Amino acid sequence: MTVVIKIGTSNITHPTGHLNIRHMEQLVKVLSDLKNAGHKLVLVSSGAIGMGVGKLGLNSRPEDMPTKQAAAAVGQCELMYTYDKLFSEYSHVVAQILLTGSDVADDGRRRHFQNTVSRLLELGALPIINENDTVSTDEIAVGDNDTLGAIVACAVGADLLVLLSDIDGLYTADPHRDPSAAFVRQVDRITPEMEAMAEKAGSGLAVGGMATKLKAGKMAQQAGIEMVIANGAWPENLYEILEGRGVGTRFLAKKEGQSI
Ligand code: GLU
Repeated sequence: MTVVIKIGTSNITHPTGHLNIRHMEQLVKVLSDLKNAGHKLVLVSSGAIGMGVGKLGLNSRPEDMPTKQAAAAVGQCELMYTYDKLFSEYSHVVAQILLTGSDVADDGRRRHFQNTVSRLLELGALPIINENDTVSTDEIAVGDNDTLGAIVACAVGADLLVLLSDIDGLYTADPHRDPSAAFVRQVDRITPEMEAMAEKAGSGLAVGGMATKLKAGKMAQQAGIEMVIANGAWPENLYEILEGRGVGTRFLAKKEGQSI
């Protein structure tokens, strides 16, 4: 099965911006095991800016573009260095791909990207993708890695997209503010009501919130790809998620002829 897994900044870094060693090691161990079991995996990893903040000793996440981009340049190195080191322990080879919105909007460049990823998968390597933050400006940025995850899942024809984040999945209302909020296990169709609720829930969580996750869900559903939102704090959950069971919110793929 070909699976695109997106991991959020808060899953692999502490709020200080320094590496969350325990989470990162667990994630790499589970992904390595899933690869050993024969799955083809593509990882979309956030964390460049967060880790750059930690490494440069900045007090908080920068607001201005040049500092964000400088932090991303520093943090992306650290991120890939860490993945390379940890995956090597399980004899897996990683590859870095950095993309912007204009790369995937351009037919020629998108095709080169698709060819590279499929060749990497044939060669048994694990592509690790992030936005090319140092050259992304508002006009050409994908903007968030939930959307990037969906773009990548569509481009590689994935069977499943998993968005790992610091939330358990979709609720009927913002669980931080509304105690009656109920957890949603399965979504057949993303409704305008869900989208309105996600916009409101907006949240200060990193870059994406529920709104970007629903946008990713719509792209995946329309392309016939199932998507799961789950908490990345327990990467072991990926075993059950790949078996079609377990935790999180599962967005069913659109069936032939069904309109969404
Ligand atoms: N590309 C950003 C980073 O690596 C993350 C964007 C996101 O998490 O949505 O820091």
